[in-house]
Amino acid sequence: MTFESISDELALLAAAARQHTVYLQELGVETFQGQVVSKRTPSTLRVSSPKTRAESVFDQPPKQIFERAPQPVPTARTPAPGVIAAAPKPDTLFSSIFQTPQEPLPKSHETFEQIWADVGACTRCPLSAGRTHIVHTEGNRKARLMFVGEAPGADEDAQARPFVGRAGQLLTKIIEAIGFKREDVLIGNINRCRPPANRAPLPDEVAACKPFMLREIASARPEVIVVMGNTAMKNLLDIKEGITRVRGQFQDYKGIKVMPTFHPAYLLRDPSKKRETWEDLKKVRDYLDNNES
Ligand code: SF4
Repeated sequence: MTFESISDELALLAAAARQHTVYLQELGVETFQGQVVSKRTPSTLRVSSPKTRAESVFDQPPKQIFERAPQPVPTARTPAPGVIAAAPKPDTLFSSIFQTPQEPLPKSHETFEQIWADVGACTRCPLSAGRTHIVHTEGNRKARLMFVGEAPGADEDAQARPFVGRAGQLLTKIIEAIGFKREDVLIGNINRCRPPANRAPLPDEVAACKPFMLREIASARPEVIVVMGNTAMKNLLDIKEGITRVRGQFQDYKGIKVMPTFHPAYLLRDPSKKRETWEDLKKVRDYLDNNES
């Protein structure tokens, strides 16, 4: 549109501004860029995208234009004005701080050495009878990424290191495939002693040993945990579905992302599952790439 003169253009802009003010009044908006538009009782209408006339005319996002904060909608947890909320009972407060499963995990100041000193020459469960060595978590204590398996096998029991057998060598290749070195990450197992004949640890054995792993997680506080295999997944997470259904979908452990995937020992038995594992690990890599601090 062309104008004969500046005054014609100003007149048109003034008309548009008047029209816009009427529009704001229709919405019940009280203030507009610091000026009173309407004194009438405001409605609770909240203006937001899609692009409003305010945005299109003045090219500013609605948040900057509409200064009135949206009124909170009273709920059972939001007492009406003048009503004093009852203080939480002590037991409620305790449970909300210490017992809610998804409460973010606070970083502990315990060192791995302190945790391992507590493990000592552990005989807390029957797996102690058949072990050669206790196998602790190894790797970078400041790692962004942690791998957690079920329990040591024969090679791990012999060398006192996690994931050093054939499955461990495959895990090392997987770690390198997503751009890390083995020494960049943390690697451990929920149970630290080898079960006889490589059977899955029993619930009592898991209950006895898992606290050490949870203390290491709280100490290192990695950004992502890759939990490998059905047993380790179910022992770490409160989850009923099997690994085949859950793998590839980020889960949560107290604010830490957990990616369930197949155990490398299973991939040795069924190499066709390597492709799915690769897809799962790519998601982990992408998450870490996109959340670099
Ligand atoms: S598996 Fe864990 S709880 Fe059981 S004896 Fe070994 S270190 Fe102790």
